[in-house]
Amino acid sequence: MARRQIAVIGIGKIAQDQHLPVIDRSPDFELAACVSTRGIGHRDVPVFRTPAELYKAMPEVGLVAICTPPGVRHAYAREAIDAGKDVLLEKPPTPTITEFLDLAAHGDKRGRVLFQTWHSRYNAAVDAARLILRDEGVASARIDWRESVRKWHPGQDWVWEAGGFGVCDPGINALSIFTRIMPFPVFVQSARLRFPANRQTPVDVEIVFACNQKHRPAMSAGFNWLEEAGEVWTISIETRKGTRLGLERGGTVLTVNGLETIANPSEEYEAIYERFAKLLKKKKSEMDGAPLLLVADAFLVGTRETVDDFHW
Ligand code: NAP
Repeated sequence: MARRQIAVIGIGKIAQDQHLPVIDRSPDFELAACVSTRGIGHRDVPVFRTPAELYKAMPEVGLVAICTPPGVRHAYAREAIDAGKDVLLEKPPTPTITEFLDLAAHGDKRGRVLFQTWHSRYNAAVDAARLILRDEGVASARIDWRESVRKWHPGQDWVWEAGGFGVCDPGINALSIFTRIMPFPVFVQSARLRFPANRQTPVDVEIVFACNQKHRPAMSAGFNWLEEAGEVWTISIETRKGTRLGLERGGTVLTVNGLETIANPSEEYEAIYERFAKLLKKKKSEMDGAPLLLVADAFLVGTRETVDDFHW
């Protein structure tokens, strides 16, 4: 079958690190164009400054992947839906819940396929952990998500602007795994958010979760963006049968009682595009907002502390 033509909108770090090379290798998709406000392209495909220019010049391109920061995603996604495109969305979806719900509803109304990606979910270790927790239940869970913002978002000031999520930009990856593997719904009970005095988004967040389980498992998360000693992307869970699970390295590795049982190289974006191909075939959208709801709730109920200025 002919590969489907797709355009990538926003040629920044994640588009260049993942989307473009993965599309180049994909059996399902063919890169048809780039949309870049700075005029950045890839190989010899046409580059447009705005989506509107793309839609006018190349109406045959039926798919777009929106890889911008979240602040402009709603407007770009709506414009794409109205132009009759099916849409793949980077995470986090949008800075507000209302925008997210609007996209899902508008996509449905117009009969378009919308795919809200959560890249950290696409790991065999995550799937295996989910099955174990389904069988054994959860006695306790702790998320530790620490990394260097200077390494992972070099010079990206949008992460510090209102609506930029701050440390919840990586933290939402942990919550995307958490909401995938937990066998019951979790709620934010309380949160503490630390904001640099000169910035609008938090650099450190601690969350306590609650749930409707009678045995009241202790569940919490800590996100930090000033970790310079290497990434800590770990979810540690004890099951009700006493098994100790460790999802390490962002969900790519699973340890069971300290023994490594799955350690796969990360092929998250390959799996995302395979999933998108399946959704397109079935003409089915996938818009799970659960990780966004937890982040929003942490901001709603969280207490605020002001800490030292952040400078790159
Ligand atoms: P980035 O390097 O800042 O790039 C985003 C690109 O979007 C920019 O280079 C720009 O591309 C375009 N853009 C930025 N602001 C825009 C605006 N106001 N209007 C229109 N276009 C704008 O950011 P990124 O690291 O790629 O992150 C983008 C998204 O991917 C975020 O939601 C992030 O959470 C997610 N993500 C990032 C990583 C990572 O490792 N950085 C990993 C997974 C997911 P043009 O100049 O080409 O227009």
